[in-house]
Amino acid sequence: MKAALLTRPGFIEIKYTHDPVIGPEDLLIKIKRVCICGSDNHIYNEGIIAKSDVVLPFILGHECSGEVIEIGKNVTGFKKGDRVTVEPSSFCGKCEFCRSGRYNMCDSYRFLAAPPDNQGAFCEMISHDYHNCFLLPDNMTYEEGAIVEPLAIIVQAFEISNFKVNDDVLIHGAGPIGLLALMLLRAMGAGKCIITDLNDYKLNIAKRLGADFTINVLKNNVVSIIDSLTNSSGIPVIFDTVGMSKTLSDSISTSGKNATIVVIGISDDKASFDIVDLICKMLVLKGTTDFVNCFPKAIRLIENKKVEVMSVISHYYDFNDLNIAFKNMNTNPQTIKTMIRFD
Ligand SMILES: [Zn+2]
Ligand SMILES: [Zn+2]
Repeated sequence: MKAALLTRPGFIEIKYTHDPVIGPEDLLIKIKRVCICGSDNHIYNEGIIAKSDVVLPFILGHECSGEVIEIGKNVTGFKKGDRVTVEPSSFCGKCEFCRSGRYNMCDSYRFLAAPPDNQGAFCEMISHDYHNCFLLPDNMTYEEGAIVEPLAIIVQAFEISNFKVNDDVLIHGAGPIGLLALMLLRAMGAGKCIITDLNDYKLNIAKRLGADFTINVLKNNVVSIIDSLTNSSGIPVIFDTVGMSKTLSDSISTSGKNATIVVIGISDDKASFDIVDLICKMLVLKGTTDFVNCFPKAIRLIENKKVEVMSVISHYYDFNDLNIAFKNMNTNPQTIKTMIRFD
């Protein structure tokens, strides 16, 4: 099959490699659409992610959908021709974490296109455990199917956020994850939705998607604006999709009493924030990674048009033009999310 091999940082070569081997519990999936994730871009540029070195050549891509073209002998509930989206995780199912429903903490946890594995979805076919594949409802396209994964990230963040109806929310970052968070929080009955970024183009999109207030952090003081927007009572629920020291300290400073701050974005920053605020406001600070049992919920949110996921797609490229797609993502400030087509 043809695969997009990252052979050195910043350079992908489309080459022929061996077809994937299909195990008894696997589906062989012909890839139709893949979205580029921020983590793909990080690996593309740096050849390293979350402190793990990447073994080259590396096949990027984990936000994908496709058509089932072959099924393993123990598979039930799927047939050839089914349209599916792929939860990129795999796990042992037996350890303490798996058995208590926290499989994203499994000691043997693996993820498509994440080290130590070097196999992702930017290729013609993948083989994947059928337990982690989900049928697309008839009214969902392959394109929507490829955005289930980032929405699932937000579903999990939402579920641990202690959000209550009418809570005001602050979202750091108007990239795809921040915009998906905004749309989900609106759908769930959020009060005032405030979103920060340093890019006015993205903030304008946030406004169109329902943000009540947008703050450009390069031009404004987030803490004083939120102080006046909330009459000094602070924000009860904060989603940090950036994950830098500045956004974390702004979150701590702008949070209300007993607020929950969920950190979704990741950077190499070492954080610095006001410990007095953390203690005296009895804040809840949570990190979240990937998802547990969130795919079915994310699919239903899209199926029922609760979250218009296609509004985060800004660019489309063909599989053969992956280098151009990454180049655009790295140089064009109007890139939100990029979708790669395979036919
Ligand atoms: Zn992703
Ligand atoms: Zn496990």
